[in-house]
Amino acid sequence: MKIAILSRNKNLYSTRRLKEAGEAMGHEVDIIDTLHCYMDITSTRSTVRYHGEELPKYDAIIPRIGASVTFYGTAVARQFEMMGTFNINESVAISRSRDKLRSLQLLSRKGIGLPRTGFASKPDNIKDLIKNVGGAPVVIKLLEGTQGIGVVLADTAKAAESIIEAFMGLKANILVQEFIKEAGGADIRCLVIGGKVVAAMKRQGAEGEFRSNLHRGGSAEVVKLSKEERETAVNAAKAMGLNMCGVDLLRSQNGPMVMEVNSSPGLEGIETATGKNVAGMVFEFLEKNAKPNHTKTRGKG
Ligand code: ADP
Repeated sequence: MKIAILSRNKNLYSTRRLKEAGEAMGHEVDIIDTLHCYMDITSTRSTVRYHGEELPKYDAIIPRIGASVTFYGTAVARQFEMMGTFNINESVAISRSRDKLRSLQLLSRKGIGLPRTGFASKPDNIKDLIKNVGGAPVVIKLLEGTQGIGVVLADTAKAAESIIEAFMGLKANILVQEFIKEAGGADIRCLVIGGKVVAAMKRQGAEGEFRSNLHRGGSAEVVKLSKEERETAVNAAKAMGLNMCGVDLLRSQNGPMVMEVNSSPGLEGIETATGKNVAGMVFEFLEKNAKPNHTKTRGKG
């Protein structure tokens, strides 16, 4: 098959590994810089152009779209979908997963376990907002944050109020969430491909840190999942409409709780921790599923 990886940087571990794994399986794999694609939008024959030429017809694309280029990246992915190219993660699903609030609402609609979460725009609701999620300590999150930046733990209601006021004063969109203390600064990253958890790792935050992000100095190890955890991860991926994603779970007293679903999960941490060829599994999925005009939305989102 002829496959394009949409990525801003060909030297990133995940991008390199995907190219390497695809080629090892006999596929032709191009890395296309998302921001250098430009679109010819017509009523009859839409195309994607790159460095002055029309891109060839690909059997499938693998979008690796960073949070900072979501708007343009999803537009490029949508253009491929309009051309009938199979996209492993459709543009609408990527947009959904990029908005923490929208994701939580979708997951809640499907009855998937999540930390109790509040969202508001007017400061006069702050006290009730905190009380409603169970009172302090609470976690306050910037809606657009990534890699743990903009995720704050407030120990007391007073601290929570000040932080919320400060964020709102900056016109930032935030959500307030019940703090899952028993998770002990750890979370579980489940890598889901084609409705199956193909690899999982437990990430533990650095000493004294409640955030387990590897970018924040956390460490990773292999973990055995319970049936309920597996099901939760698979259902979360399904609710978002993502064929390939990372689902982050917290182990709480009330069972697994989904914190986030990531549409461009990094492969380095999970491949290193588990020793699995996750990149190869992405191509196995494409071999079975990438058919022309197989996109559900055809870029209508
Ligand atoms: P980001 O998208 O920036 O990584 P997350 O929402 O995933 O933000 O939060 C970062 C980390 O903080 C999580 O991996 C988890 O370890 C911790 N964390 C986030 N929310 C909670 C919570 N409600 N209770 C306990 N720990 C949390």
